[in-house]
Amino acid sequence: MFDRFCECEVKYIKKAPTGDGYIVYFAWHGSGRREFSRVFEQDLMWVHAKKFVFLGAGTLGTTEILLRSKQVGLPMSDQVGTRMSGNGDILGFGYNTDVVANAVAKAQPDPTHPVGPTITGIIDCRDQPNALDGFVIEEGAVPSALVPGLQLLLEATPGKIYPELGSRFQQFIRRKLSWILGPYNPGGSIERTQIYLIMSHDSNQANLVLNENNKPVIRWRGVGRSEHVKYLNKLLADATNLVGGTFVNNPFFAALGEQEVSRAGSITLSIKS
Ligand SMILES: Cc1cc2nc3c(=O)[nH]c(=O)nc-3n(C[C@H](O)[C@H](O)[C@H](O)COP(=O)(O)OP(=O)(O)OC[C@H]3O[C@@H](n4cnc5c(N)ncnc54)[C@H](O)[C@@H]3O)c2cc1C
Repeated sequence: MFDRFCECEVKYIKKAPTGDGYIVYFAWHGSGRREFSRVFEQDLMWVHAKKFVFLGAGTLGTTEILLRSKQVGLPMSDQVGTRMSGNGDILGFGYNTDVVANAVAKAQPDPTHPVGPTITGIIDCRDQPNALDGFVIEEGAVPSALVPGLQLLLEATPGKIYPELGSRFQQFIRRKLSWILGPYNPGGSIERTQIYLIMSHDSNQANLVLNENNKPVIRWRGVGRSEHVKYLNKLLADATNLVGGTFVNNPFFAALGEQEVSRAGSITLSIKS
């Protein structure tokens, strides 16, 4: 039989003293109990799971519960919380290519020529000798609310990879067309911009630990510098340059991420719970 308890935050699990199953301790958020922060955190409720406990609190929540359970004596591998990674997400832009991509949405879409939904097709490159080298390239689209600032954003993003000189004159004309006639002009640079989404595997570069306040923190060590990410960015750049376009990295990463990583050497992220 399954029981469902709502508004409950599982804190930790112990082996049942009677030897049958586990005791799951949780803080109940109901009836405004959160207002009494000290009591609320200390006065835990519990439920007895007679045989098994399956944790489904997501990557971060599950690890947090396991680490806290380890603190209170549940036998646990030392590997829990180590070697964490994201799913190697990469956002990139093939800006100002020779080909119309139709990837920027309009408030009044043309039903014969719609934009989106996204991720309707993939280039599947998962079949690699090492499974961790596998990746997929998917297509994205820009919501109409973001379109007005898109050209400025893409042109201001540092670290672009340009095509051969021969393509530059046409690129110049397309950029001007977009600036003058707007982003939806089929001859302009924005209508000829492809949005790439990659799902892959990061290197194992993060640890999740509990800090002095017993809250989870995740420490990333140079996620953006993974060799694999560099390889995938190069792949996107080569594909973009071949169709006369400029490869633009994720603007947030280009402007903030890389600098932050190289300056600090690591990133620590506190998780609110
Ligand atoms: C921005 C974003 C976009 C994504 N896009 C896609 C996509 O396009 N396609 C795709 O396949 N996947 C996508 N994913 C990934 C997908 O959402 C996750 O892989 C999936 O939701 C994981 O499911 P889960 O049940 O393991 O964890 P979750 O969905 O994270 O569920 C965990 C639940 O446990 C609860 N919880 C946490 N801690 C506790 C606790 N201590 N006590 C009680 N409850 C707790 C949380 O509140 C949450 O409700 C995306 C994820 C993100 C963040």
